Amino acid sequence: MSVDKKRQLIDGEWIFSNRFYPLENPYNGEIIAEICRADESDVQKAISSAYRAQEVMREMPAFKRSEILYKVSEILEFRKEEFAKLIVLESGKPINAARGEMQRTVETYRLAAEEAKRLYGETIPMDASAGGTGRIGLTWQEPLGVVVAITPFNFPFNLVAHKLGPAFAAGNTVVLKPAEQTPLGSIAIAEVFMEAGLPKGALQVVTGYGEELSDALIADERVRKVTFTGSAAVGKLIKSKVGLRKCTLELGSNAAVIIEPDIDIAKIVPRCVETAYSFSGQLCISLQRIYVQQSIYRSFVEAFVEQSKLLKLGDPNEETTDISVLIHEKEAARVKGWIDDALEAGAEVACGGEGEGAMLEPTVLLNVNNEMAVSCMETFAPIVSIVPYENLQAAIDMANHSNFGLNLGIYTSNIFNAFDAARQLKAGGVIINDAPTFRVDHMPYGGIKDSGYGREGVHYAVQEMTETKFVSINTK
Ligand code: NAD
Repeated sequence: MSVDKKRQLIDGEWIFSNRFYPLENPYNGEIIAEICRADESDVQKAISSAYRAQEVMREMPAFKRSEILYKVSEILEFRKEEFAKLIVLESGKPINAARGEMQRTVETYRLAAEEAKRLYGETIPMDASAGGTGRIGLTWQEPLGVVVAITPFNFPFNLVAHKLGPAFAAGNTVVLKPAEQTPLGSIAIAEVFMEAGLPKGALQVVTGYGEELSDALIADERVRKVTFTGSAAVGKLIKSKVGLRKCTLELGSNAAVIIEPDIDIAKIVPRCVETAYSFSGQLCISLQRIYVQQSIYRSFVEAFVEQSKLLKLGDPNEETTDISVLIHEKEAARVKGWIDDALEAGAEVACGGEGEGAMLEPTVLLNVNNEMAVSCMETFAPIVSIVPYENLQAAIDMANHSNFGLNLGIYTSNIFNAFDAARQLKAGGVIINDAPTFRVDHMPYGGIKDSGYGREGVHYAVQEMTETKFVSINTK
């Protein structure tokens, strides 16, 4: 059976590259399409075109940029079911989660459309210093120019939206390199942007392997910012290459929640189960570590295991499927190895632990310590460890014992404990009375330590897509 050959968008034209790679459906291994495997010359053409287009975007008034982004949001609202099915096809994400992603994507572009009209500056009280007397000082935000956006496989639409929306809201041009496993969403969104009236050259989409294109994408000094979402290892590499230019890095984590004894277990277990296993744990803030006060530990574990066992594994196209495959068999093999290591070091499986191919059962581990890979590394799989603690300070210390720091959470009905935890937990965000997986797309979002550099959340991402210019007028 012949499959579609997909094109890349370079300099406003849909073109083929010299090479292709087969795109596999992660659920059944079928080849879905042949994808352009870009080389350095494709990237150079894309950067040159984005560089030429930067004046057009810089001169485009804010209301017009906003209109284009609103139009994109409207088209997505209309086509969201079709695109949800595309997410299922290329990523193996269960259909209901894919629909959730599309609804968020509609909103992310709408938020960006709103932010395009809110790029305010400041006036500076210049006479605060004797030397500034008689001067007026003000700032405005200017676009950076060419932005390179590199995105991961797990949200083929919404994490691309977190790059494109803010970049265009601020008046930049973009060279987008989507994950090699999920390029179809980016090709589709580029078509939507064309339909919405984005000028030629403002968006380029090159597809292929990040490690092959790394230098071509990053080393070119015409690129003024690299915005990356993906693993910490690649994020560190990118940071080492960008030098003095701007970069935003949204990386991984091993998110944890603390559960205090004054909480109604029946109320929170369903949410903890959902956030531990959603998209097979392949979320950057997937709930991976649960610290439960020892007086309620047994009943919490019992309820959690019982509900984990109810989840339905299977075909991501089925309405009733809760959990499907990991992005690739080798990820399931990696994580099974980590489970085996943990068992050898004294951990216990309370449920799950098995799976065929790329499928892995929802897995609860007990007797886990902070040194085991299943705890201290990002599993990116449907595995959760539940650990008892004696007092809140001990729980905070365990939650903080990590190289990551994206979102951490606490469930408690004691406001003093809630704020004590919020103050002490070392993370970009602390979520009180919800799982650390909570995110809406306008809130500030990003990590400390190995979890990232800079902040997204549409308003914050727009700021990071601009440069502040200061202007002083001498009135004397
Ligand atoms: P990945 O780091 O393997 O790949 C991400 C992107 O980087 C892909 O487009 C890939 O082609 C590219 N890439 C790979 N090597 C590169 C190189 N040397 N130079 C430049 N680009 C390169 O990540 P993934 O497996 O696609 O995604 C999973 C990771 O992403 C997890 O760690 C997850 O936590 C993280 N993530 C973070 C967030 C966040 O907002 N903090 C959101 C989603 C995913």
